This record gives sequence, C-alpha cells and structure tokens, in this order.
Amino acid sequence: CGIVGIVGNEPVAVRLVDALKRLEYRGYDSAGVATLQGGKIARRRAEGKLVNLAQKLDAEPMSGQIGIGHTRWATHGAPTEGNAHPHVTDRVAVVHNGIIENYREMLLDLAKDGYLPDTQTDTEAVALWASRELANGADPEQAVSRTLKKLRGAFALAFMVHGREDLLIAARHGAPLAIGYGNGEMYLGSDAMAMAPFTSRLSYLEDGDWAVITHSGVTIRDRSDAIVERDQLVSLTSA
Ligand code: GLU
Repeated sequence: CGIVGIVGNEPVAVRLVDALKRLEYRGYDSAGVATLQGGKIARRRAEGKLVNLAQKLDAEPMSGQIGIGHTRWATHGAPTEGNAHPHVTDRVAVVHNGIIENYREMLLDLAKDGYLPDTQTDTEAVALWASRELANGADPEQAVSRTLKKLRGAFALAFMVHGREDLLIAARHGAPLAIGYGNGEMYLGSDAMAMAPFTSRLSYLEDGDWAVITHSGVTIRDRSDAIVERDQLVSLTSA
C-alpha cells in the first residue's frame, strides 16, 4: 500500500499513477487518485491492479495540477471501489495507510452533528472529522492539527482541501512518509522510490510530524505543533 502527492504546475493524475506503480511491491487491492479541478475535488478509483485505474483515467482524463493518490490494502471494509481511497467530502479528500483504532468512537461523535459515513472504512472518520472542523470555521492547518490530535492508531495521511490548489497537508505516525523537493513543484510519497521519477531531494517525516506543502516548499511541525527542521537528503534510488 502507498501514498503519493503532487503540488504541481502541470496535470498530475497520470504522474500519480506512475508513482503508485513504484509502490506496487508493497501489495494492494485497489487504488485511486483525487485532484482539484477548478478548486473542486474530482476522483477516480478502481478495484484491483493499477492498470484498471489507468484505464479509467484514459477514458476520463483529469486536468488537475494538484493531487493525491493511494494504493489500499484493506483493513476495515471490503476491497471494493466504494471503499477505495481517496475518501472525499464536500470539503476534503483524504488518503490513509494504516489503522485508525478509535474510528467507531469518532463516527459516533460525528453522527450527532449529522456527519455520516458512506463507506465501511476507518479512514472515512478522518475525512469527516476534518470536514466538521472546516465547517466550524477552522482553517485547513487548524482542521488537520485538531484531527490528528484525535486519532489513535498508526497512520500516514494526506489531505487535500476544496478550493486550495496550492496546498497538501501530510502526517506521519507509525507509517513512513517523505516530502520531495522539485523545481516549483513539491511531492509526497511513502518512500524515495515513489518520487524517484520527480526528484531525488527529500526529507523523511518523523513520527508525530505533519507537513504543510505548497508550491514553494514545506513547513514541518512536530506533534506539539512546533516548527521543526528535518534533514534534506539526496536519494540514490534511480528513476
Ligand atoms: N485502514 C484503511 C482501510 O482499510 C487503510 C488501509 C491501507 O493501509 O491501505 O481503508
């Protein structure tokens, strides 16, 4: 399973699938991508191999220049297209590797405010929680920060926000995630291999870190929201 993301200057969907192919060695049962088109979240998902997702993109191309992609190894909910990531609401798109242990408790709380899941996944609790924060007036960084503080379990996460074509937010807690530096573009990936076609300059997040990624760079914060510096390395993984 894997996560990729691009804050780009040209269409990203096909590149996201190429990056996901490089994470195939980790195993997966379904896959999906979401991009922002005119500020609106668009997505394509497919059961099975990435070739199925690639075929959907051929038939219905996506123009968005920012996006996130995911290969899923189902833990909660059957490996169907409906349970495949990204999970979207009218405000956010979320991809997740790992397990949210307290998702039932989160869903019960969300239901009181009318936020109901469409899928059987643990991940949807994350998307709905962040959406409620945004609906209550939080900015994207606050919404993600508050959501992360609620989560129990192990995860790598990436958030894309409706109307924000310049922003991805990523978080790591017990599952690997790295930030890639390009020229006017920025990347996100489970490992250096995923980003090898784009860049060899990267920083691995540490557990508890979350990162706000824009075209111009990244700001990384630790679990107490303090800004931290993480070493930039040059990966020797070749494209
Ligand atoms: N627990 C999530 C799900 O079942 C994510 C699984 C994964 O790591 O791909 O949808």
